Amino acid sequence: MKILSKITALAIVLLILTSAGSARQKPRNLVLFIGDGMGVSHVYAAMTVSGNTMTFPAFPVTGFSRTHSADSYSTDSAAGGTAIATGEKTNNRMIAMRPDSTVLVTLLEHAKAAGKSAGIICNSSLTDATPADFATHVPLRYKYRAIAKQYMNGTADIFIGGGRKYFVPAPDSSGKINPEEDVISGLSRAGYDVTYDFESFIASKSNRIAGLMADDDMPRLFEGRDPQYLARATAKAIEVLSRNPRGFVLMVEGSEIDDAGHSRSTSMVTEEVLDMDRAVAVAHNYALRDGRTLIVVTADHETGGMSITGGDLEKREVRAEFSFTGHSGVMVPVFAFGPGASEFTGIQDNTDLFHDMYRLLSLDKKRR
Ligand SMILES: [Zn+2]
Repeated sequence: MKILSKITALAIVLLILTSAGSARQKPRNLVLFIGDGMGVSHVYAAMTVSGNTMTFPAFPVTGFSRTHSADSYSTDSAAGGTAIATGEKTNNRMIAMRPDSTVLVTLLEHAKAAGKSAGIICNSSLTDATPADFATHVPLRYKYRAIAKQYMNGTADIFIGGGRKYFVPAPDSSGKINPEEDVISGLSRAGYDVTYDFESFIASKSNRIAGLMADDDMPRLFEGRDPQYLARATAKAIEVLSRNPRGFVLMVEGSEIDDAGHSRSTSMVTEEVLDMDRAVAVAHNYALRDGRTLIVVTADHETGGMSITGGDLEKREVRAEFSFTGHSGVMVPVFAFGPGASEFTGIQDNTDLFHDMYRLLSLDKKRR
């Protein structure tokens, strides 16, 4: 009896301690990583090749996200990213709009309205679906010029990636340039330091920086992309965005994991996943110091129907096969670290990821 009551008392104390703890579990900042096309096999292949030294697979919280879109069992990046960015399902090929083309407010737009800063980093093109989902609204993902123009609205204080050709004005058939098409000048007028090479981006002292690193898509790693690009861009973005005492939301895309799946290349899958993990490690180091930063790592969908058919842990080798070259309908993994991370356990819909992040960051409390 005495022992029982002691256990009860201890249980009550523990309950009070944990509830007090969870009351503090509110992040100020969020770094969201989207490994485009990154399924469980992609992650495990990278873990094997790295000798299990990766950062995000060691996060304390893991879960799964269901990825179907409003009109398809297998989503594309446009609808998959829209679900994570806005909390609503839409049709494939639509960017942050409902199927009826009404505009959805994105996580980054909510963050800005709440007085936070916001950033976007990718290693393909800024006009691609995933980065576009967080800051722009178009009914069709291929409207690259319309997407580029909308970066002028200032949702992302800092952004970097490829796609420069959609930001520079194109002369019409008579050779005239419509000033409205000149996104670069528009960005400069809006206070952005527009940079065209990585060292200028890193060296910029501005609070608003645009990094246009390639005319079209940035090169894949095997084509010579700087293996420190994503990690250094993430460090720079955190340095700039963390100047805001109200906090920030940063979306980092590991864009070419998807392309690796489409190309059925196991080596490309592992090197692109490990590339994103280097950027996660930068955010993780910051989060460990800061204590108020939530990190969520997930994917918009799986690409290639990748399955691991064999391997060798000692030799750090992996063999994989791809069932096709498209996007599969399988659930994708979710990894979380930091205050509020426990919300990301279990099987969730991709739209729930938005609602968790929105609630944890108190984005309903708009700045007056
Ligand atoms: Zn794809």
